Amino acid sequence: MTTAQLRALDAAHHLHPFSDTKGLNAEGVRVIVKAQGVHLWDSDGNKVIDGMSGLWNVNVGYGREEIVEAVAQQMRELPFYNTFFKTTHLPAIELSRLLAEVTPAPFNHVFFTGSGSESSDTIIRLVRHYWAARDRPDKAVIIARRNGYHGSTMGGASLGGMGLMHAQGGLPIPGIVHIAQPYWYGEGGDLSPDEFGLWAARELERAIDEIGADSIAAFYAEPLQGAGGVIIPPATYWPEIQRICRDRNILLVSDEVICGFGRTGEWFGCQYFGYEPDILSIAKGISSGYLPIGGVMVSDKVAETIINAGEFHHGYTYSGHPAACAAAVANIRILRAEGIVERVRDDIGPYMQKRWLALADHPMVGEARMVGLVGALELTPNKATRASWPVETGTVGLITRDFSFRNGLVMRATRDTMIIAPPLVISHDEVDALIACAKKTLDDAWTEVKRRGYV
Ligand code: PMP
Repeated sequence: MTTAQLRALDAAHHLHPFSDTKGLNAEGVRVIVKAQGVHLWDSDGNKVIDGMSGLWNVNVGYGREEIVEAVAQQMRELPFYNTFFKTTHLPAIELSRLLAEVTPAPFNHVFFTGSGSESSDTIIRLVRHYWAARDRPDKAVIIARRNGYHGSTMGGASLGGMGLMHAQGGLPIPGIVHIAQPYWYGEGGDLSPDEFGLWAARELERAIDEIGADSIAAFYAEPLQGAGGVIIPPATYWPEIQRICRDRNILLVSDEVICGFGRTGEWFGCQYFGYEPDILSIAKGISSGYLPIGGVMVSDKVAETIINAGEFHHGYTYSGHPAACAAAVANIRILRAEGIVERVRDDIGPYMQKRWLALADHPMVGEARMVGLVGALELTPNKATRASWPVETGTVGLITRDFSFRNGLVMRATRDTMIIAPPLVISHDEVDALIACAKKTLDDAWTEVKRRGYV
């Protein structure tokens, strides 16, 4: 079939996630047909660097035969069996053990889900169940942050702080409160990053004072906000959050769906930022996206209560799907055997950061930031004032994103912030190629915004 025929069929029958279907169908969707390493090919034969690792998940890159083989073998042996009703199977046992090994010391128990969103919903029920089991059923409110992202289910989207999502479907569900995000570039005003980090953390304390610690179950946050625009909190933020959660007896949940499995150069984002959560939400990089799987990891303290609390009335048909577990086991073995996380920390991370941060010299870049292999560029018409664009927010981001694809690089645009999160196996030469595409993209976008009179 030709690309035009494929597009027509897709337009006729497929409703896309996070898409304006009418606009998309008019423009024509991009058809991706294969991938290898860090590269994708579309149906017209264009080869592009996948600067987003799929959706921040293909950490070990495409075309890993070890994962393909492990899944095929598992499918032949036992394609499905459940983990309800007093049963388990070999891949779930093996993956649980591996997860206990690669997560920080207090984490030795996992509840399997099918995705990050299912992990969010699981955690809402789990933290309330935890406090009820400790005779504190009133501790039920969960505090999260504006512009956080925790999924698209009713629970996940409620925890998230995305106004456009809340506006559809009557969200958030009751018992979820949002506080400020630690977004210094966008909201820091005249404060230094360190001052602003403390201020943003103390918003948690102020919310607790207002609501009452006796009513609060947990604080729920990403180590760095991914979908919100790769927002990296100032150094003062996490230690203060940790202190407040401990002082006020509130569970700390770290949503590691993006940061987990090496993205920051540590196995988990909480290790990079140096805090000790009670619960981890995991998905994406656990299987590098080869099959869908997620999970919730609980610390020994939480596990003890949950284990002694009778039945947890919660579970998914695909909690611990055998083939998905086999994919995750093979993926984690690759991460370990090839020292991929350490390579992000010591070698390819610093190599790419240096080049990415230098993009801040471009006239339309107000700030470049990156940790591990996840970064962002803030686009502005005025570097000195960090002004926003004199058109609808997101317009310049989309212009830039389209140039990027034409130049052979997938970058994502969140508002007018460009985002990058390449596979962790990217080579030095591929980083050079990526940076060259990003530079050309900025030049093209700069010419275009000047032509349109936005500067
Ligand atoms: N949490 C975070 C931090 C995420 O980035 C995402 C997905 N981008 C989710 C949860 C939801 O995961 P999923 O799309 O697998 O449901």
